[in-house]
Amino acid sequence: MKRWFTVLVVAVFAIAAVSLVVVQFYQMRRTISISDNMFNVAVGNAMDEVLHQLGGEEEEGGTLTYQHLDALVAEQLLLNGIDMHPAVGLYDGTQRSFLFSTDPSEEGELEVSPYRYAFHPVGVVSGNQFYIILAFSKTELFLQRNSWVYVYMTLFLVLIIVAMFFLSMRTLSVQRKLDRMKTQFINNMTHEIKTPLATISLACEMLQDPTVSQDRESQKNFISIVSDENHRLQVLVETLLQSAKMADKRYRITHKEVDLNGLMERVASSFRLSLTKRNGTVDLQLAANPSTLMADEMHLTNLVFNLVDNGIKYSDGKPHIELSTRNVDGGIELRVQDHGMGIAKEDQKHVFERFYRVSTGDVHDVKGFGIGLSYVAEVVRLHRGTITLESELGKGTTFIVTLPR
Ligand code: ADP
Repeated sequence: MKRWFTVLVVAVFAIAAVSLVVVQFYQMRRTISISDNMFNVAVGNAMDEVLHQLGGEEEEGGTLTYQHLDALVAEQLLLNGIDMHPAVGLYDGTQRSFLFSTDPSEEGELEVSPYRYAFHPVGVVSGNQFYIILAFSKTELFLQRNSWVYVYMTLFLVLIIVAMFFLSMRTLSVQRKLDRMKTQFINNMTHEIKTPLATISLACEMLQDPTVSQDRESQKNFISIVSDENHRLQVLVETLLQSAKMADKRYRITHKEVDLNGLMERVASSFRLSLTKRNGTVDLQLAANPSTLMADEMHLTNLVFNLVDNGIKYSDGKPHIELSTRNVDGGIELRVQDHGMGIAKEDQKHVFERFYRVSTGDVHDVKGFGIGLSYVAEVVRLHRGTITLESELGKGTTFIVTLPR
């Protein structure tokens, strides 16, 4: 996906999301206003009935008390679908004082309430204007409107939509990264395979040359080149095949008794020839005793091979590799240490990811395609072991693998 397209998608989504919130907000206000109107109409109907009943009672000569008014209001509100108990007062609008009310402390509230109804009590000989006033508690009114349901539902839905959007954007970006890595991987792999093939074909041509075939020394030299390159190709294909197999979660390794010290020695000697050509060395410090463990020999060999191969690949000049083993609590620890270029802190947490390669400017500087360490980590995981690394740029790297016995 192109960058401009991502920006476009994000912009369109942002506009749509904001518009949705605005539309929802107006819709919510409309709903609240309708529900307010319905509430007011219901209160009006209840009070009409209250006034009507009070009128009838007065004709029969009754006097109005607070208890009676309060009970009548509550009853009529309930009959009109309002299950609330507002403060009630009888107010002399001319004197600006209450004849009675629910509570003197609520009279301030009552005085400003819009729910006031003109009413002249019997027995009061005065030309003053009287009102019955109701005051609903603010929280009760809010709950009555059900507005909180709209507010929370809207917020919740918008949150879900935004979360889903970011989730899909993240998936897209991961997919894009994978796509890039795949292309890079294919480029690197083609390069990796082409180079040894070209070297082998050149060496074969040279071997057919009459001058070379008569010289035993050159002949041996070219045969060793062919053999080295062939070995490299074999390990490459093996690592690729095994790591592809391991991608299947059901993959199981076969456990049998393996002598780790012996295995380390064999891997070290397979590198000796190529190391002497570069004046490099490989040192062994095999202190583990006992050094046997239950493991998959083929995968363990590939693991050590990959670590040593990397140690050599990522060392400038003369590679110096140290291999060691020792017993630790419940298992054996093996270390592969080099004094090469090291790995920067920010790359250290990624090197075990599939296809990850530290960008060195030119990808083809050092051969590889970012499979080795992910395969190593997978082998360690299948053995229920652990792998860590210590590294400093320019000083070298140590891979520490601990395997249970
Ligand atoms: P690659 O095929 O690129 O070697 P790996 O999975 O083996 O792939 O390693 C991933 C990356 O980790 C390499 O590209 C390299 O940058 C870095 N790396 C691995 N081992 C070492 C090491 N011993 N020293 C320095 N860098 C290393």
